[in-house]
Amino acid sequence: MAYDQNNIFARILRGEIPCKKVHENEHALAFHDINPQMPVHVLVIPKGPYANLAEFNAKASVEEMSAFMQAVAETAKMVGVEDSGYRLVANNGEDAHQEVPHFHMHIFGGRRIMGRMIKAQD
Ligand code: AMP
Repeated sequence: MAYDQNNIFARILRGEIPCKKVHENEHALAFHDINPQMPVHVLVIPKGPYANLAEFNAKASVEEMSAFMQAVAETAKMVGVEDSGYRLVANNGEDAHQEVPHFHMHIFGGRRIMGRMIKAQD
């Protein structure tokens, strides 16, 4: 899958579109989701051009992967959900309704009634 250089997160990374930044390291950026689905809804993205997890896995260096996961954990702490708990979601591909073709992790939290993971209905 060719990486779309004009997807919205690529534009945020280039500074063409603003974001509400929470955290950043050499290889990852975290910012508030523009349409929050929970009291805490933050996105963490790698800075490299990876459309999905498969590309991230195939092309990112160990250092980039490590920095990405560090950013996820540190961001959760910074937005105050480390102790209360949070859910990580990475939508991949059509069945998961991935809208932005740049690999990203959602951090959801801040509410107790998130619900258990349930089996999807047909
Ligand atoms: P996904 O369906 O996993 O691809 O989710 C993409 C997410 O990006 C959605 O939750 C959107 O609300 C969010 N989003 C889209 N544009 C922006 C933006 N400019 N700044 C922050 N979040 C955005």
